[in-house]
Amino acid sequence: MTEHLDVLVVGAGLSGIGAGHHLQTACPWASYAIFEARDAIGGTWDLFRYPGLRSDSDMFTLGYSFRPWDDDASIADGASILRYIRETAAEEGIDRHIRYHHRIVRAAWSSDDARWHVTAERTDTGETVEVTCGFLFSCSGYYRYDRGHQPDFPGQERFGGRLVHPQFWPDDLDVSGQRVVVIGSGATAITLIPSLARDAAHVTMLQRSPTYIMSLPAEDGLANLARRVLPDRVSGPLVRWYKALTTQAFYQLSQRRPAFVKRLLRKGLERQLPPGYDIDTHFSPTYDPWDQRLCLVPDGDLFKAIKAGDASVVTDRIETFTETGLRLESGAELDADVVVSATGLEMLFLGGIELTVDGEPVDVPSTLVYKGMMLGGVPNLATAVGYTNASWTLKCELTCEYVTRLLNHLRTNGLRQCTPVNDDTTIGTEPLLGLSSGYVRRAADRLPKQGDRFPWKVYQSYLRDYRALRMSDVDDGVMRFGNPAPVGAVAGGPAADGQAEPVPVTSS
Ligand SMILES: Cc1cc2nc3c(=O)[nH]c(=O)nc-3n(C[C@H](O)[C@H](O)[C@H](O)COP(=O)(O)OP(=O)(O)OC[C@H]3O[C@@H](n4cnc5c(N)ncnc54)[C@H](O)[C@@H]3O)c2cc1C
Repeated sequence: MTEHLDVLVVGAGLSGIGAGHHLQTACPWASYAIFEARDAIGGTWDLFRYPGLRSDSDMFTLGYSFRPWDDDASIADGASILRYIRETAAEEGIDRHIRYHHRIVRAAWSSDDARWHVTAERTDTGETVEVTCGFLFSCSGYYRYDRGHQPDFPGQERFGGRLVHPQFWPDDLDVSGQRVVVIGSGATAITLIPSLARDAAHVTMLQRSPTYIMSLPAEDGLANLARRVLPDRVSGPLVRWYKALTTQAFYQLSQRRPAFVKRLLRKGLERQLPPGYDIDTHFSPTYDPWDQRLCLVPDGDLFKAIKAGDASVVTDRIETFTETGLRLESGAELDADVVVSATGLEMLFLGGIELTVDGEPVDVPSTLVYKGMMLGGVPNLATAVGYTNASWTLKCELTCEYVTRLLNHLRTNGLRQCTPVNDDTTIGTEPLLGLSSGYVRRAADRLPKQGDRFPWKVYQSYLRDYRALRMSDVDDGVMRFGNPAPVGAVAGGPAADGQAEPVPVTSS
């Protein structure tokens, strides 16, 4: 007999473990499992192993609300974050719900029995596993694990040194005394460079165009003072709100007064870079702050490496790889023993799961996102997707709480199906993510859209979402509830053979 679960969570990363906590706490009646394609907890924080890996947003908001980050470092290294996720899973017994080596490949919703019929592939044995679930909760992150974005550089096969991608950092790579070129100017490049510069002969950051970079103290004095003098139950939420609100205030300021923020960022650079440094060429982007993700460097570590002469920045384009390095469009040559292609991620929505609803394939790019977590016309499915301008977990936890409220609403009312349906033909559509970054543009036609009005619009604002998701009724007129549980069965309870009336589903 096919196993049935009330909720199936996809992925045991930061969000999947958070989902486990919220399900156990708010829906203790629900049976659930977490299917994880890999053999480990932690997702991003287990996959990436490059030197210097760290958070680029503060841990007081990237950590969970229910287990406040308890370390002085606000910007933390990858190993500490991984330990934190593992400890959370172990302390609460969430790890007992994880089934490793289970990659979910297909999910077929059937209104007849109000269930997802889910197919997973065992990544260790190749076996196929079939389960059903009442609700599918995707916590699969936002990018492919099996490959990163790797442009085909002309002549790269000629290069005699090593070419590596940060997503697959080789264990045996020792850069001591080596000349390293890092291609890219995003968060990964900026994290790697100071760390590599400690041992390498020299590190060159080769960028096509500059990024806004801001230095912040690795430890937040005010947050740590509050943590020391106040009891944990007060300091946890207080510090989290303080960090969430100050981050959001800076984002808002960037959107409303870009010229002012540009000047502010430039002043910071002038203070930290050597006198006479060419900031215009290397650190002055053509776009406004926060049109792409703004990069943070703790205690100005990148600028210190530049000042010490251990690292430098070249703004140019690659003409070709040569046997010994790179030739640039300006005619300049960069000699290298190691080239790191910090060229980014390949975005992937819903962990690549193929969806059908009552036999009809779901064409994800033509769906609208509801409250930043569900898809119009797709029942009983939510996805934990974090903010692009603040810590991921802030939004994921709001999503987790909302999902548990939906599940409890269904159960209390003896219903089994909830489908957000857009009846408003005047809703305009926009790309899901408002960033102009390369990885976002490359994926735009594979992602769902957002609408121009709530609940179809994604606000990227914790304050707004907090009000909209925590303080509102789940029965909002847009969500269609239906598919009563057959007599004698409790929604979310033991398996029930559905003779209930299916709810018609219209796609948005
Ligand atoms: C290098 C790096 C640094 C980052 N730093 C920050 C930061 O400082 N602040 C911030 O807010 N965000 C940051 N992010 C974004 C980051 O990914 C999130 O913060 C967060 O870790 C995502 O957690 P997640 O659990 O949602 O996804 P992931 O960490 O990606 O975990 C998803 C899990 O789902 C599994 N999975 C995927 N598809 C399937 C499937 N079909 N079946 C079964 N399992 C599946 C994966 O194997 C993985 O274990 C960073 C990202 C990267 C790459």
